Amino acid sequence: MTPRYENLIDGQDCPPAQGAYLDTENPWTARAWAQIPRSTPEDVERAVAAAARAFGSAAWSGISATRRAALMRKLGDLVEANAPELALAETRDNGKTYTEMLRQMQNTAEWYRYFGGLCDKIEGRVIPVEAPGHLNYTLREPLGVIAMIVPWNSPVRLLAWKLAPALAAGNTCVIKPSEHASTSILTFARLVREAGFPDGVVNVVCGLGAEIGPALTDHPEVAKIAFTGGVGSGTAVYVAAARRMRPATLELGGKSPNIVFADADLDAAAMGVAGGIFASGGQSCVAGSRLLVADTIHDAFVERLTAIASRIRLGDPMDAATHVGPVANRPQFEQIMRMIAMAREDGATLACGGDSFTGPEGGLFVRPTICTGVSADMRIAQQEVFGPVLAVLRFSTEEEAVALANSTRFGLGAGIWTGDVGRAHRMAARVRSGTVWVNTYRMTSQSSPFGGYDLSGVGREGGQAMIDGYLQTKSVWVNT
Ligand code: NAD
Repeated sequence: MTPRYENLIDGQDCPPAQGAYLDTENPWTARAWAQIPRSTPEDVERAVAAAARAFGSAAWSGISATRRAALMRKLGDLVEANAPELALAETRDNGKTYTEMLRQMQNTAEWYRYFGGLCDKIEGRVIPVEAPGHLNYTLREPLGVIAMIVPWNSPVRLLAWKLAPALAAGNTCVIKPSEHASTSILTFARLVREAGFPDGVVNVVCGLGAEIGPALTDHPEVAKIAFTGGVGSGTAVYVAAARRMRPATLELGGKSPNIVFADADLDAAAMGVAGGIFASGGQSCVAGSRLLVADTIHDAFVERLTAIASRIRLGDPMDAATHVGPVANRPQFEQIMRMIAMAREDGATLACGGDSFTGPEGGLFVRPTICTGVSADMRIAQQEVFGPVLAVLRFSTEEEAVALANSTRFGLGAGIWTGDVGRAHRMAARVRSGTVWVNTYRMTSQSSPFGGYDLSGVGREGGQAMIDGYLQTKSVWVNT
């Protein structure tokens, strides 16, 4: 019997109003392993109403900050204690390795603890205005119902980036997970109940983005939208937010460069570049999908990379020896293969990979692929693949490296590999990107801001200041 999951609305497991369900496929077996609700706007309405009631009754924002902090810490502890179950649901839904998902869950727990620690540190200010006989001060208030829309690649983790600061600030929420990977968030929702959060504070509605996304983003009771996903749906979400004049944070895609200078530690750089693009099969927003490499070391460096790529073990994501699991879903697989064909059409050469195969249980795999001879105007240098495909471009001067790094409309992450500390700082300042890593890649933390320039998004997630994004500031004047 295929397990069936239900929405969480007002603290209850809620079957969808129309009684319809969607199959959720395990990419390793290419077979349905669970069913999730195919919700309709009616379900969204119920969820938003529950969140609005919980907000209006101050069931969450009205309890003491110390108690809110304690519940948040408890939620963090439950995420950690249930990491194996959460990781298993995620591996079954998106095919990423269980080892990686388990590590992610352990880090995700920290987000609830970190932002829980800020609950009792939300303060207004008394402002020394030049207005004799008047007192002016600020009050910090939660916004209300936050809509949170999450993609399939790391659902529980990407949700925490929104939910932890939003809850700490006293908001309530309606979460819409991806139709390709909802079960880990529904499993997480059970932990929210177990931790003792009041009913209606956290609600989850599953279904197709096109069918229920607009009902959520256009809802008059939604005070803010926090979105992670692709540029296309992100644009639709941003337009909906603008129509109702409400804020939105958008964490979108990338075409992040790893920039390798000849004076770098080339062993470390090669491992960093390979990990940057091939880990998780490139299905990561910060995948380092462009390599910008100094002319003088180009051939030798590409050779090192192809050697590493040939050692990457593709296979069962539950096997601890596997480095990379299957591609998460068929549309994603087709997109990757289309982009490889496009790279060839545009004149790139494949140093390795380019082919795909079907695993023993039916899952779809793409071998780590390195495209050389790429120029900045090629589609493979401009468009996000979200797969294990590296585009290699060469440069001869630092100036040229900066120009190439900034030659796409994205700006999410960038890696700089050099032994020259002055150059590292110069480059960090000049590359247009929300995060720059020097001689490392992919580091993130709950206490550090993350987000993008240009098409990579609007706003930041992570870090103390992020709680401000979930608060209103009210200025109060008193005639004394
Ligand atoms: P997607 O944009 O297709 O879907 C994301 C979410 O939006 C899903 O829940 C989907 O159902 C929903 N959605 C779709 N249309 C909608 C609409 N009109 N209104 C409201 N919601 C709608 O993205 P995806 O394929 O799930 O994820 C991959 C993309 O996410 C990649 O582009 C990747 O770079 C990006 N991503 C970004 C980050 C980041 O932090 N910057 C992290 C992970 C993934």
